[in-house]
Amino acid sequence: PYTGPSADAIINTRKEFLSPSNSMFCLYKNPLNIVDGRMQYLFDESGRRYLDAFAGIAVVNCGHCHPSVVEPVINQIKKLQHPTVMYLNHAIAEFSEALASKLPGDLKVVFFTNSGTEANELALMMAKLYTGCQDIVSVRNGYHGNAAGTMGATAHSTWKFNNVVQTGTHHALNPDPYRGVFGSDGEKYARDVQDLIQYGTSGHIAGFICEVIQGVGGIVELAPGYLSAAYDIVKKAGGLFIADEVQSGFARTGDFWGFEAHNVVPDIVTMAKGIGNGFPLGAVVTTPEIAGVLTRRCYFNTFGGNAVAATAGLAVLNVIEKDKLQVNASMVGSYLKGRLSQLKEKHEIIGDVRGRGLMLGVELVSDRNLKTPATAETLHIMDQMKELGVLVGKGGYFGNVFRITPPLCFTKDDADYLVEAMDYSMSRM
Ligand code: PMP
Repeated sequence: PYTGPSADAIINTRKEFLSPSNSMFCLYKNPLNIVDGRMQYLFDESGRRYLDAFAGIAVVNCGHCHPSVVEPVINQIKKLQHPTVMYLNHAIAEFSEALASKLPGDLKVVFFTNSGTEANELALMMAKLYTGCQDIVSVRNGYHGNAAGTMGATAHSTWKFNNVVQTGTHHALNPDPYRGVFGSDGEKYARDVQDLIQYGTSGHIAGFICEVIQGVGGIVELAPGYLSAAYDIVKKAGGLFIADEVQSGFARTGDFWGFEAHNVVPDIVTMAKGIGNGFPLGAVVTTPEIAGVLTRRCYFNTFGGNAVAATAGLAVLNVIEKDKLQVNASMVGSYLKGRLSQLKEKHEIIGDVRGRGLMLGVELVSDRNLKTPATAETLHIMDQMKELGVLVGKGGYFGNVFRITPPLCFTKDDADYLVEAMDYSMSRM
């Protein structure tokens, strides 16, 4: 049994000693005190079990405390934690080779970081150095991180402070099939990328950064045809395409990478979250030619890819393979999406069901025609689902989208339970 401090005691300590920004992120009216995790389940201080359909924001892809991740990490941390890349060690070499083998074409060179923000900052810098240009195009409603460049590229006022310098950053129309001005016509939205380049830059850009499915923005899929059309436009302007796979990577969408569904091969792929199953780790993968720009000066990251992080990363790749998580994400994901779509027939409040694999969104509206965001209802239903033992995330500009991104070991039974909990909570509204 749990013998640590109570939820109330933790709340008080957090209030006194943690940044006040942290308190804004407690998801529930009565915040959960999570003390244990096992695969797709989390346990609170009383031992109550919750079905986790958020996975710490699309992080814990293999499942909480997966023994095949935990064991190698423990063995490595006992043996050697941090040799620094200035010495040779097998862990970082093995993991970089295994990771590169997961990417197509000439994407063969890896640089390790500790977070998605760092990965995207590095990608943006490499694009600027490689092209000799400064201008970056990103997509509205996208999230890329919270440092100078990535906060600029992020196109969501919720996540921007008013000190952010956006010089050289251009935010393209969001190709959002549900709320976007051109509906599902991807090519029309891509013309906005063309316009931004044509009228807002010298005609040459450093790059285009984009999430293949927007996560923070509320699980928004790119309108069909958008990415390949935008890709051609960006290439003509000399820019690099940076795919931000921080949430969509590592088998979550049913493909290994989100971009695979779009017939494009990025110049740079950034990743974090699912890469380490909870261990802090991020990476940038690019071509030898582009990576070469980093040899012009010294570029170094103290902890990036340290022996324990690399061991965790390698273990994650092995588990995805061994547990067939990609197939499972695809199979259980389409089953769950189907069931959620049926739920939409029953409940007026569901305006849209979307996403791929186990990266699904359910957008709630109080009026289907006006698409009025049902923000308060979303919070309420989320709280009710928690009471029924199911944890989902929330996102979107209006906070009215359920984000369903469970560990990829989620089963059909879990999917049924989630849908029943949602159905029951909506019926009782
Ligand atoms: N890119 C995307 C798509 C993300 O969702 C996030 C985190 N929400 C980031 C980048 C930044 O990652 P981190 O929080 O690890 O810096």
